[in-house]
Amino acid sequence: MSLKSKVTGLILAGGRGTRMGRVDKGLQPFRGATLAAHVLARLSPQVATVAINANRNLPQYQALAAGSPVLPDYLDGFAGPLAGLQIGLQFCPTELLLTAPCDSPFFPADLAERLYAAMQEQGADMAMAVTMERDPEQPDAAPYRQPHPVFALLKASVLPQLDAYLDTGARRMEGFFNTLKVAEVLFDDSAAFSNINTLEELQHHERSTPVPAPPAAPRDGDPPALPVEEAQRLICERIAPVDATETLPLLSALDRVLAADIISPINVPACDNSAMDGYALRGADLPADGTATFKTIGIAYAGHPFTQAPQAGECVRIMTGATIPPGCDTVLPQELAAAIDGDQVTIAANAIRAGANLRRAGEDLKAGGTAIAAGKLLRPADLGLIASLGIGQVSVKRKLTVAFFSTGDELRSLGDQLDEGCVYDSNRYTLFGMLTRLGCDVIDMGVVKDDPHALEAALRVAASKADAIITSGGVSEGAADYTRDIMALIGDVAFWKLAMRPGRPLAFGKVQTEQDSAWLFGLPGNPVAVMVSFYMFARPALLRMMGTDSKLQTLQARAAEAIRKRPGRTEYQRGIVSTGADGAPQVRLTGAQGSGILSSMSEANCIVVLHHDQASVAAGQLVDVLLFDGLL
Ligand code: AMP
Ligand code: MG
Repeated sequence: MSLKSKVTGLILAGGRGTRMGRVDKGLQPFRGATLAAHVLARLSPQVATVAINANRNLPQYQALAAGSPVLPDYLDGFAGPLAGLQIGLQFCPTELLLTAPCDSPFFPADLAERLYAAMQEQGADMAMAVTMERDPEQPDAAPYRQPHPVFALLKASVLPQLDAYLDTGARRMEGFFNTLKVAEVLFDDSAAFSNINTLEELQHHERSTPVPAPPAAPRDGDPPALPVEEAQRLICERIAPVDATETLPLLSALDRVLAADIISPINVPACDNSAMDGYALRGADLPADGTATFKTIGIAYAGHPFTQAPQAGECVRIMTGATIPPGCDTVLPQELAAAIDGDQVTIAANAIRAGANLRRAGEDLKAGGTAIAAGKLLRPADLGLIASLGIGQVSVKRKLTVAFFSTGDELRSLGDQLDEGCVYDSNRYTLFGMLTRLGCDVIDMGVVKDDPHALEAALRVAASKADAIITSGGVSEGAADYTRDIMALIGDVAFWKLAMRPGRPLAFGKVQTEQDSAWLFGLPGNPVAVMVSFYMFARPALLRMMGTDSKLQTLQARAAEAIRKRPGRTEYQRGIVSTGADGAPQVRLTGAQGSGILSSMSEANCIVVLHHDQASVAAGQLVDVLLFDGLL
């Protein structure tokens, strides 16, 4: 049974909203909806069913979540979150209850999962989120533990203990939790648990400024940038192949991923046949010395076997591909005959050995053997091989649908006037090309303005239509602030700083709406960075989703000139491979390597991969290159 089916979600919206001037907090407008609606959207994917604890404006809450019960406190007088918990536990139809406050719309998408894991591990009655915080006034002081009791997963069976606790007149959440066995789960992202307490804070978030800053970075500098391989591993770890398959006629299966092994129903070739035009005979009749003359008794053509067995001193004229006549085991190629005179063929000793020039039945493929294993991306040779088995239809993985859009107020689409300070959007065109080459169905969603509402709307639409979403722009530090907010709101997306060049920032994670989800790759904006990060991160992930392997083959070439490189990051430089004077491959760079210089990519025929630990390269040294052939 899935965790989700065991959990009921409870939105705590029964407070007085004292610090907001007694407004009903959950119903405050926020980014095109209400605060509670945002919490609902975040909670729904994690639970089987949701209830809302509210003490005012019940019809509005009812409207918010059609079908979900709205539960007022059983206790009188706005008794606080424990009263909400009490009524929630009374209602709870599942074995577990997950609470979330109505004013905290940024909590993690894996909240239930992580709380549950800790609860199981520690045999606890409940699990609660905890973060480490720093006092902004005293940045040098040690961080302190901040519990978040309103983000709790509880066994529904603790209700009698809660009733007893409330009967004593006590109302404090943590006081009650002290009566239980509690597992604490430390979350890194304290901003995810920040709540909106005042109208100022609400406006502050509405204007899409960042959620309260996470604890200050450690004093000894920024966290180290993530190495490329590590990011690739983290991405691939999370992504699973799609299950759905379809059966296609062979001619439609090019570039698709085979979903089931192709088992050969026959031997290929089906029977022993000749590899040459010549004469079929019995190897035992070949002369040990001198010559021997054979009489031709018939002709075997491909498709027209000769079925009579030759006797001693006889042979059969045979064409390439013709079935070997009975009794024969050797073919003399016609050009190796010592003499041919009418039906008389003379063969010298040692012209051939017995058994030569035969293609044996099953030497290509044996009946019952695996001809091609599932997971293979079908190339022209594979289509031919499958056809050689007489198989006309194959089961392949379904195609992926990938939605993509560019972000940036400065971007203009083709056909638009190029205003002062604007650029034409090129990323959508490179992305279109790269995705199409991968065999994905694409949805081009155009340019999205640097506006949180527009971004959220675009992500929602994309998640409803696609398996994966690829965006460009808006993920670099500074640019990313509102992107981060939105992605925290409707997804579980990590923002990475990578040890690579070009393409330092990358966002990766899942966008999750009430009904749908899609993987998100937030690529940087610079055109070369987009391509490089697509190839290094999106490509392997998409191929994995498609159900196939993605290893890229590098080859080595001699650097025609020195290349500067700083250890501690992977660099991808654009190069041109050619054949050097000595016949070995050599590579030179394509001039300026700025991450915005797309012409360097267009001119190049390879990427020079300078690995994480590698330092500058001297002229003449070997470097790894990734040829565009096979990639693009
Ligand atoms: P950003 O990551 O959004 O700060 O963008 C970084 C740089 O890439 C800026 O110079 C943008 O103008 C440029 N850029 C972003 N998106 C595109 C695009 N779709 N086409 C061309 N240039 C872009
Ligand atoms: Mg931008």
